[in-house]
Amino acid sequence: MAKNFKYLFGPVPSRRLGRSLGVDLIPFKTCTMDCTFCQLGETPCTVSERGNYVPMQDVIGELGQWKRKDGRADHITLAGSGEPTLHSHFGDVFCWTKEETKIQSVLLTNGTQFHDPDVREQAVLADRVKVTLSAWDEESFQQIHRPAKGINFELLVEGERAFRHEYLGELSVEVFIIDGVNSQFDHVKKIAEVVRSLSPDRIDINTAVRPPADPSVKPSAAEHLQAVAEIFGPTASVTASFKKQGFESLDISEAALVSLLKRHPATCSQLAEELNLAEDKMFKTLKQLVSIGSLHERRYDGEVHFFCAD
Ligand code: SF4
Repeated sequence: MAKNFKYLFGPVPSRRLGRSLGVDLIPFKTCTMDCTFCQLGETPCTVSERGNYVPMQDVIGELGQWKRKDGRADHITLAGSGEPTLHSHFGDVFCWTKEETKIQSVLLTNGTQFHDPDVREQAVLADRVKVTLSAWDEESFQQIHRPAKGINFELLVEGERAFRHEYLGELSVEVFIIDGVNSQFDHVKKIAEVVRSLSPDRIDINTAVRPPADPSVKPSAAEHLQAVAEIFGPTASVTASFKKQGFESLDISEAALVSLLKRHPATCSQLAEELNLAEDKMFKTLKQLVSIGSLHERRYDGEVHFFCAD
């Protein structure tokens, strides 16, 4: 477990990625969009300017420390508090991973910066890349993603297509389904048409299983998501509900738990399952952290979710 690190979190158990060490290059919450379904809450002010948001030498320093102290992960993933490609040198993490480890690297991105050749040049260094595409035209894009000024649907799709053209690694597309907004089959068919134009290796169908930025966002039912996946074809699968895959128990400190919840708000049972820990023990720890103000609770879809607002 990444203890007492500022830029590293997890490893987070993931059905597809196994134990994934998260690397966070962006201050909370800096993003090019303000998606209604975002599990991190609202983006206070959307941005599209890239920069050295955190010192890359410090990030690489932490990765070196982590490698010396633990170094066990199946993947090293750029994700976290916002859009990682906003960092001017995000590709340095992939270079370090290739030079220093045998671990696969992953980029989770909303794809809005792929119109920039420099971003594509750095992103191709990742072994796997996951982009987002949940709209089918400008109006639905604005409604769902509320992007920064200057970012539009055409720019997003053209950038993602250009990236696919240049990228030989595994490209997956996440389609986030919001009940009553883009869940209708005629809308899904239009999204599927755009997604097909990216020739992805895999399509992940997700929905709001964690509290969204906009409380009016509702998850679609599992059966509906299954029908949606069928429209996308054989490379699509529903990833919305995490199923336990027999991960070994993780030794998690309270600081690491808070760090994890800062990037991944979750219910007690989701956490207990993901970390393979007893639910009663997890509940006690979470409640203690709430009582000292390190965590907060919020009820969503009939369940209490724990999150860190700092
Ligand atoms: S879901 Fe991703 S792209 Fe959308 S606002 Fe949240 S961090 Fe940004």
